[in-house]
Amino acid sequence: MSSERLVVVGSLNMDLSVTVPRLPRPGETVPGADVVRGAGGKGANQAVAAARLGAEVRMVGLLGDDALGGELRERLVKEGVDARSVAQLPGVASGLALIVVQQDGENTITLSPGANRHLDVPALGSLTGGAVARSGDTLLLQLEVPLPTVLAAAREAREAGALVVLNAAPLPPSGGHGLSELLRAVDVLVVNETEAAGLLPHTHTDWSEHARALRELGPGTVVITLGAEGAVAAGPQFTCSEGGFTVDAVDTVGAGDAFCAQLALSLGSGVPLPEAVRRACAAGALATTRPGAQSSLPSTAEVDALLGAVPPAEDTAHEVRRAH
Ligand code: ADP
Repeated sequence: MSSERLVVVGSLNMDLSVTVPRLPRPGETVPGADVVRGAGGKGANQAVAAARLGAEVRMVGLLGDDALGGELRERLVKEGVDARSVAQLPGVASGLALIVVQQDGENTITLSPGANRHLDVPALGSLTGGAVARSGDTLLLQLEVPLPTVLAAAREAREAGALVVLNAAPLPPSGGHGLSELLRAVDVLVVNETEAAGLLPHTHTDWSEHARALRELGPGTVVITLGAEGAVAAGPQFTCSEGGFTVDAVDTVGAGDAFCAQLALSLGSGVPLPEAVRRACAAGALATTRPGAQSSLPSTAEVDALLGAVPPAEDTAHEVRRAH
């Protein structure tokens, strides 16, 4: 696939994980295994995913001026992401996720947003020089940085003629002030089942119906991811569903991020919706075959190989029909 320019405005975190025999109760100390460090944050994960999938990627975000910030910046650059719009704020801590994992997979996560919460609208302006994206670019957004910033980035990019893709995750508990304006400012919305039901009560018999209903909130195209069951999508011309790829899944962390990055790249380069969803499902499935977030993200060659190995079943899993 040709090199496309993708801009991500979003979060960067360091994930520190410890595996324990059982989760500690309040006030209790439980000895665990050695700490595993992993670069994370939905913004950085999706930026790295897109870079591995062959895109030219620019990340816009904030880190602290601590050691973790330096390490996260270095890792982004090593992945080939343009990090010139990622600044380290003096006197501020980097975003950090403290993850405790019980041996059976049950976990607790304490998230300290740190510098991510300082990505306000003026900071966005100074990081991007007032030009978040150009005509023909794709802007990929998530909700781990302040909503007014996400809204400003979406509006600015759309005005400039960029394709705006929003992964509405994590969904703010109360819907969040400005969310309805944001949905009207994006071209493509990507959500999982929980987020889809959080945006609109799920009163339909199937997820395709629900995706069509979500289009009424503003986005021209809505994609709902369904874990191992694949994804459904509703666009201006088509509703389609992709049954997903059968793989040996070991850890689903990173699947949603790989999916969003691949979907944004494909739609940004003009790939029709059904093919874009199928390719995104392949990327998501591959990310489940390895542990970790960024460490599990696949390359274009891997996505091509999986797509080549499993031809589309036009009349069953890959159902396409015209929307009403
Ligand atoms: P999230 O992690 O954001 O909730 P999902 O679990 O829906 O997102 O996963 C995103 C995509 O990754 C799915 O649409 C699917 O294509 C792929 N995927 C996730 N889990 C599996 C799995 N167990 N087997 C195959 N594909 C998967």
